[in-house]
Amino acid sequence: MTRKPVLMAANDYESVLKMLEEITTNARQIQEQLLGEILSKNAETEYLQGFLHGQTDKQLFKKNVPIVTYDHIKPYIDRIANGKASSDILLVEPLIGFSLSSGTSGGQPKLIPITAESANVTAALGNLHLSLMIKHFGDLSQVGKRMELLFAKPDVETPSGLKASAVTTRAFKESSFQAILPKLYTSPYETIFCPDTKQSTYCQLLFGLIQRDEVVVIGSIFAATVLRGIKFIENNWQELCSNIKTGKISDWITDSGCRKAASLILKPNPKLADLLEDICSCKSWEGIVRKLWPKTKYIGTVCTGAMLQFTAELEFYCGGLPLVSGFYACSEGAIAINLEPLSKPSDVCYTILPNTVYYEFLPIKEDCVTDSQNQVQLHTSRHKDTETVDLVNVKPGQCYEILITSPAGLYRYKVGDIIKVTGFHNNTPQFQFVGRQNVALGVDMERTSEADILKAVAEAKVLLDPLGLILTEYTSYGDTSSTPGHYVIFWEIKPKEGNSNKKNGKELDPKVMEECCSKMEDSLHFTYRMYRKENIIAALEIRVVKQGAFEALLDYFVSNGASLSQYKTPICIKSKEALNILDSRVIAKFFSPRTTIQDN
Ligand code: AMP
Repeated sequence: MTRKPVLMAANDYESVLKMLEEITTNARQIQEQLLGEILSKNAETEYLQGFLHGQTDKQLFKKNVPIVTYDHIKPYIDRIANGKASSDILLVEPLIGFSLSSGTSGGQPKLIPITAESANVTAALGNLHLSLMIKHFGDLSQVGKRMELLFAKPDVETPSGLKASAVTTRAFKESSFQAILPKLYTSPYETIFCPDTKQSTYCQLLFGLIQRDEVVVIGSIFAATVLRGIKFIENNWQELCSNIKTGKISDWITDSGCRKAASLILKPNPKLADLLEDICSCKSWEGIVRKLWPKTKYIGTVCTGAMLQFTAELEFYCGGLPLVSGFYACSEGAIAINLEPLSKPSDVCYTILPNTVYYEFLPIKEDCVTDSQNQVQLHTSRHKDTETVDLVNVKPGQCYEILITSPAGLYRYKVGDIIKVTGFHNNTPQFQFVGRQNVALGVDMERTSEADILKAVAEAKVLLDPLGLILTEYTSYGDTSSTPGHYVIFWEIKPKEGNSNKKNGKELDPKVMEECCSKMEDSLHFTYRMYRKENIIAALEIRVVKQGAFEALLDYFVSNGASLSQYKTPICIKSKEALNILDSRVIAKFFSPRTTIQDN
C-alpha cells in the first residue's frame, strides 16, 4: 500500500472516497511506513542525529527523541529562517516556505516548515472534503457559486529568503485556485487580497449580495467570521443597498483592486436594491441568511471547539441551514475529516487521516466527561504518564493530547489540542475536539480548561434569553491583582431584535447578571468550587463591554500578525495589551453574590 497517491487529486469523488476507505482500513501499516520513511530520510539531520545517532528504529525514536512544544524547536526554526534554509537542521528535503499559524489560539504566530509534499497533502484535504460534500449535496459547482469570506494576509520574507504565509493565503495564491475563482466564488481575487479588512469585508458582502441568485454555499474557515459577516450586513445594509441601487461603490472604498472589481460587477439595479431593503428592514433577523440567499444549501465553516460558542447565534440567522464543520487541520498538518457533514455541531466527530503525519497520543489523567448537551468537558489536563499510544491503539472514551511527527521536520511535536476518542471508522480513530491544551485559566493551583469555560458560559447565557438579549462574544482572564484572585469573564451583549435600541450597561438587570455569575461558578469544576468555598478564589466577575469591543480585539490581533481567515477569538487572554482593549470598553461589572457554592 503506497502512501503518497492516497490523498492526491482524483477528479471523481467516488474514487477519492474509495481511497479514504482504504487508508482508514490500512491505518496501522500506513503509519508504520510513514514513520519509517520520515526517520530514514532524516536520520542524519542535526536534530535527529543528536538523539538517534543515525539509527531509525521506532522504539529508539520513542525512547530518545523528546516530546516537544513549539518553544523547544523554535531555536532550530529560527536558524533556518535566519539564513540556513538549505542545511539539514530539521529535515533533508528542501523547504518551500513556512506556514504562519494564526497565533490567536496559542499566543505568538508560529513558523511551521513546509515542503512541496506537505503543501500537497494540505491541498488534498480540501479535495477530500469536497468529495464528501458532493456525496451529500451533489456537485454544487455545476449549479452555483460559493460566497465565502476569505482574507489573504501579506507574506513575510525571512532573512533566508523563504516566505512565511498563512496556510489559507498560500492556498489562495495557487494558480489552480485562481483559475476556478471567478466561476465558483462570488469574491473577486482583488477583494480577497485587499489589505484593508473592512474594505475587503464590505466588497465581498456587496458582491455576494449582487450574485445572490447564484449563491449555493456560504462560509468561511471559522464560524466567528461568518457571524461577523452577517452582523456587518446588519450594520451596513442601507449603504450596501444604496450602492446596488446607484451602481456606484461608496467613496470610502479606496483600494484600487476593490474599485476595479466593482467597476466590472456593479451596475445600477434598483429592483434588487428594493428587494434587499425589504428583506433587511424586517423586524427580526431570524433566518435572514435564507432570505438573502434563497438557494443556499449549507453553511461551510468550522463550528466545533472554540467556535461552538457562535453556533446558537449562527443558527438564529441561518434559519435551519446545515452548519457543516468539514475538517480539523492546523498549520502543522491536515489531521482529520468529518465523514458526516450533516451532523449537528455538538455531535461532530472527526476521522483521523493516517497518511498525512505520524501520530502519537498522550493520555490525559482524568477522563473527559460528556454532559447532557453532548459537550465534552475536561476537568484537568495533566497527563497520565509520558507513555504515548499509537494511532490504532487509542481507547474510545479517553482524552488525549495529539503529538505529530511530520515529513516537514516536526518530531513528537505537541499540536496543543486535546481530543476525546469516540470510536473507529474502519481501523482509524474518530474523535470530538475538546480544546486547546494551553488555554487554561487559573488564579491559584486550579486549572480551568477551554472546554470548562465554554460549558460554564453556555449554561449562564441561557438566562439572557427571557430579556431578549444575546451573548455575542466572550473571553476570560485570571485577575490576580488582588488577593484572592478571581475569574473575570468579558461579555459583549446585544438585543435579539435588530440593533436599534442598543443596551447599555445601566439597562442590564443586575439581578440577572449576578445570577449569570453564580450560574457560571456552579457549573465550573470541583476544584474551582472547593477553592471558592474556602475563599482561595474570590467571586467570579462578568465585565460587560461595549458593542464592537471584540471587533477592536480582532483588529489588535490582526495588526500583530494574526491571519483574519484563521482568527479565533481567544477563550482566555493573557496579554496586557489585549486586556487593556477590553478593559477600556467596560460598561458594567457584576459579581457573583454567592458566598457558598453549590455541591454538584
Ligand atoms: P492555526 O494555529 O492557525 O494553524 O490553527 C489551528 C488550530 O485551530 C488547531 O490547532 C485547533 O486548535 C483549531 N482548529 C482547527 N480546526 C478545528 C476544528 N475543526 N474544530 C476546532 N478547532 C479547530
